[in-house]
Parts: sequence; structure tokens; C-alpha cells
Amino acid sequence: MPDQCGKPELRDCGSQSEPNSRFSDENGYRSFQMKLFRDSCWEALAHWKPVVWHWYDRRTPIPKLSRCAVSVASLPVEPFDLVIFGGTGDLAIRKLLPALYHRYIDGQIRPESRIVGVAREALDDDGYRTQVRAAVEGAVDHVVPATLDSFLKMVGYRPLDARKADGWDDFAAMLGTQPDHVRVFYLSTSPELFVDICERLGGYGLNGDNARVVLEKPIGRDLASANVINDAVGRFFAESQIYRIDHYLGKETVQNLLALRFGNALFEPLWNSAHIDHVQITVAETLGVGRRGSYYDRAGALRDMVQNHILQLLCMVAMEPPASLAPDAVRDEKLKVLRSLRPINDSNAAQLTVRGQYRAGAADGQGVPGYLEELGEKESRTETFVALKAEIGNWRWAGVPFYLRTGKRLPSRVSEIVVTFRALPHSIFDPSSGPLLPNRLTVRLQPDEGVKLWLTIKHPGPGGLRLRHVPLDMTFASAFGVQQPDAYERLLLDVVRGNPTLFMRRDEVEAAWKWAGPILEAWEASGDTPKAYTAGTWGPSAAVALIERDGRNWTEDAP
Ligand code: NAP
Repeated sequence: MPDQCGKPELRDCGSQSEPNSRFSDENGYRSFQMKLFRDSCWEALAHWKPVVWHWYDRRTPIPKLSRCAVSVASLPVEPFDLVIFGGTGDLAIRKLLPALYHRYIDGQIRPESRIVGVAREALDDDGYRTQVRAAVEGAVDHVVPATLDSFLKMVGYRPLDARKADGWDDFAAMLGTQPDHVRVFYLSTSPELFVDICERLGGYGLNGDNARVVLEKPIGRDLASANVINDAVGRFFAESQIYRIDHYLGKETVQNLLALRFGNALFEPLWNSAHIDHVQITVAETLGVGRRGSYYDRAGALRDMVQNHILQLLCMVAMEPPASLAPDAVRDEKLKVLRSLRPINDSNAAQLTVRGQYRAGAADGQGVPGYLEELGEKESRTETFVALKAEIGNWRWAGVPFYLRTGKRLPSRVSEIVVTFRALPHSIFDPSSGPLLPNRLTVRLQPDEGVKLWLTIKHPGPGGLRLRHVPLDMTFASAFGVQQPDAYERLLLDVVRGNPTLFMRRDEVEAAWKWAGPILEAWEASGDTPKAYTAGTWGPSAAVALIERDGRNWTEDAP
């Protein structure tokens, strides 16, 4: 059903949104919905004004598609309390609070809910609301002031140092005024604070059955430190209350992989080593480390990207069909993939992995400094680029390489999965018809989320039979006429609903570290430094050699 703007709805397909059965005040809720609807109509008018102007006067450029504010099908969740530890930090300001605002204007968050920022900075509620107002206005197009004002009424702040006792009595008393609310504690702080925060929450009895704790990455820097965090958090929260977030799993395209693979008869029979030649997963950034240098230098590309995001993507591509979409059914299948990854260690790391570190170069036509200059250090052995060849040792995937690569200061910002099918066994076409290229499925996470299936067709018109390799293109913005909701919008409400399907279970994190740890140890033991690459290029030449040795190339579909 189209929404009020005549566009397809932004429904959370597959989510566990149930009609809310606990509206104590039906009339009150309806009038809230009517108010939201009125506000949203104004918002929608503001949104469509440039489009109408374009139709009227074709000299004006087509405006960038933006989301439509209203969706009647987005069902509200129960009122909840969400506490963001690190509520003044970059992640909260740039991502979490705008995501909550979007869900609010979509009618999913009821006004009895509370959003409480926590950090050491001495702010009062109004001071924090000013920060949140600026955050939302900076991130959302066409904010309607009245709607933002009503959103901000739910927002409050408590100054707390996670490591000190002051202020916790007041904090616990404030939460105690709504004992029945689902309580979400989002730990958007450095992981060193996770244990202190959970101990205090436990000490104040705030870890009851209605409580959930969200852990941001990185969860540890190796298996041992991940176990320390998981053990400590596990002393106060049951595994079912712990939501380890990997925002890549909240991206529409990643969920679409489930729909593509298991909602179509077409792919699954071909989804194996008999028909798939290889898989590439690329997560490329154009930015350098910027202000995150001190964090990044302790992490590096393997810990920051491969151990979590890229392995999760690999799991979504490679897992067996789960019996259902029940959280543990999906996570059990992902775990099997992680446990089937062939070890990379000091015996084969030199052949199967490439590390790089960027030097000064160019980005968007501007000169940019190298990693060491940005860091302000003379030397560092931290990799800002990694490419590797992984293999999954099971019946379905034996012999199919998964080439993974990620890096900073690469030529374009792109995250995508490319599945290349095997070449045809025999060509009936004359060589003059053109090359017969293998089919390819490209699943793009950013930019321009969407799916392309590359097929061979005949070039239209006379002139003999000439072959063309063209994509069946389903870029979501043009296919559905809306921008995709941010991953955090989906994931935050999944926590409130108590749906952990798209979050990592402890055993998944451990299995990922068990595979990544020996690679880090092998690099450490080798004493080698990462290979230099110029900012604005696709990493060191050894990364090209890694795949070309196998007679293949990195695929770069034009965005
Ligand atoms: P950040 O900008 O440095 O923010 C840290 C927050 O924690 C601030 O609000 C800070 O405020 C608060 N804080 C620090 N020490 C505290 C203490 N002792 N007690 C209470 N609050 C304290 O960090 P961030 O970039 O938002 O990242 C937060 C976490 O998310 C990190 O683990 C990061 O790795 C992860 N993450 C971030 C991103 C991102 O895009 N930023 C993406 C993925 C994951 P005060 O200094 O006022 O206390």
C-alpha cells in the first residue's frame, strides 16, 4: 500500500512489529497519531516542493530523493527508556539520535518513551537538547520545528562518570519512575568502560528482565580481551539481553541478501562451488583516519573492518538456508560458516594476505597527507588496508575463494559484494560477437544501495549478432522512490522489540576472533611492515597480484 505521499511504504519487512496490544488510552494515542500525521503532511509538502518546482520549470535540477516522512504501516513499539552512555559522542550525535528522530516522525516511537544521554560533560536537560536539536537539524532534511520540539520533550540528560559513584543514585531513581518500560542501555563509549557501566547497572538492579544492553564494536582486540568483556557483561546480563551491534547487518541490502537468496527459486540451486567461481567483498573508504587516529592505530583494518563487518557479510553470502528467520536459526548458520573458515596463520599468511599503509597522495583532486603525518608519528606498523583470500572448508564452498579487501584513502567510497558465476563451458557464438563474460551478481551496500545482475544479451538492432554484458539494475532509490532508512533505525527498534536476529551472539564473536587472531599473530611474528600505497589508489600492487595470481581481477562496477 502506498503511504500518504503516494510512495511505497517504508515498512520494516520481516521485522517482528506486532500490533500494539497495550494501548491503555486509545483516544490519546489516536490524537498523537493525528498530530504526527498533520506535522508529517507539512514535512512532506516541504519535501516535495522542489520536485513540483522541477516539473513546472525544467531548468531546475531534479532534487535528490529524500525519505518520505509518513508511513502508516510502521507500527509503533511499546514505550521504552533508552539510555545512551556516550550520548554526547560522535556516534550518538551523528547516527543514533537522528535515527531515533526518523523513527519518531514515522510514528514508531510513542511520546511516553524517554531517551537519556549520559556522559561526563556537565550539562542539564536543556543543554543536551540543544546538542540533540543541532544533531537532528544537521542530519535530517526539512525538519519541522514543531515535530522536533515534541521529539525533544522525550530527551533528557544525566552527567555521570561511568567510573565514579556520584550521580548514580539519581540516575537509578529517574529510571525507577517507569519500572515497566523496556530499558535499553546503549554503550556508545570506549569498550574499556563496558564493565564499569554493567557493574553499576547490576548494582542498582537495573538489569532486570526488561533490560537490554547494546555493545558497540570493537568487542575486544583479540579473543582473550573479547572474552574478558563478554564474561564481565555476562555476569550482569543474560546472553538473551545482550545485543552486540554490527550496523552492517542493519543495512537494507544485507537483509535483501536473505530475500534474494531464500525468496527466489533462481539463485539457491546455483549458489555453490559448481556454479560460482569466486566472491569478492570490498569495503573501501576515501577518508583517512582523521581524528580517530589514536583509536585506529591500536586497531588497524583487520580488527576494525574484517573481523566484524566483512566476516558478517561473508556469513550472509555463504550460510546454509536457516530453517526460519528465528534469531538463533540464522545465527547458528552464520556460526557454522565462521567455524568452517580455513585457518590463515604463519604457515600461509604471506601468500594469502596483503597489508598496506597509505602515504601522501590525492583524494577528490586535493592533496592529502599520509597515515603517519595524520597520526603525528614517525612510524607505525598498523595496516590501513588489507586484502586477503579466504576459503570456506565445507561441501558447498570448497575451492571457491572469497577475496576480501578494505582500506582507507582508496579512490571511492564503496561497499559491495560481487558474486561471479562460472564461465560457460562452451560458446556457440562467433568470436566476432564479442566476449562472453560470466554472469555476476553485485550487491551494493553503499553508495546507491541496490542489486545488479549482469547478463549477456544481444545488442539491439541490425548489424549481426553482437553480445552485450548489461546489468539488470535494481538501485533501491530509483526502484522504490525512497532513500533507504539508516541501519541504526532498524537495529535500535529491533532492540526495543527484543529481536536479536541481526545482532551477533557471543559464540559468533569468538569464532571470528579465533580466525582473525592467528592472522594478526602471523603478521606480528613476521616483523614485516605494511606495504606503502599512495592515497587515492586501490592499495599496494601486491593486492592486485593476490587475485591476479589466480587468473582473476578485482571488480569495480561503476557506481
Ligand atoms: P567519542 O566521540 O569519543 O565519544 C565517547 C563518549 O563517551 C562521549 O560522549 C564521552 O563524553 C563519553 N565518555 C567518555 N568517558 C566516559 C566516562 N568515564 N563516563 C561516561 N561517559 C564517558 O566516541 P564515538 O566515536 O562516539 O564512539 C563510541 C563507541 O562506538 C566506540 O567504542 C567506537 O569504537 C564505537 N563506534 C563508533 C563509530 C562512529 O562512527 N563514531 C562507529 C562504530 C563504532 P565525556 O567525555 O563528556 O564523558
